[in-house]
Amino acid sequence: MTFDYDDQNIFAKILRGEIPNQTVYENDHALAFNDINPQAPVHVLVIPKGPYMTLDHFARDASPQEQVGFMQAVAEVCRISNLEDGFRAIANARGHGVQEVPHYHLHIVGGRPMGRMLQG
Ligand code: AMP
Repeated sequence: MTFDYDDQNIFAKILRGEIPNQTVYENDHALAFNDINPQAPVHVLVIPKGPYMTLDHFARDASPQEQVGFMQAVAEVCRISNLEDGFRAIANARGHGVQEVPHYHLHIVGGRPMGRMLQG
């Protein structure tokens, strides 16, 4: 599997500061910001700062430091967002996953009951 990263994707532009975002948390390896079209009271996207297209790309090629930094950002987002009652984390990948933006991102959604995992 080869990954051909497109540095013109919208999250790459956010990382370069070319497009504004509502930052929730940031560290050396990850940025977390509010989704522009929230599907729940809490809907935060956590993205790595490196050029990774999907979860499997990130898991395969990101350094241990990048992976730890990313997961620390996930932990901070969950803490900041008051998700004691639970949440869902979603990573869409490629066509069958209906991924729209080709820069790996983890959706953290919560603030209400999320329903069953898959519908249709
Ligand atoms: P996905 O289908 O997993 O690729 O989801 C992409 C997500 O990015 C969608 O939930 C969009 O609402 C969100 N999105 C697109 N553009 C922006 C933006 N400029 N700022 C924040 N979220 C965005």
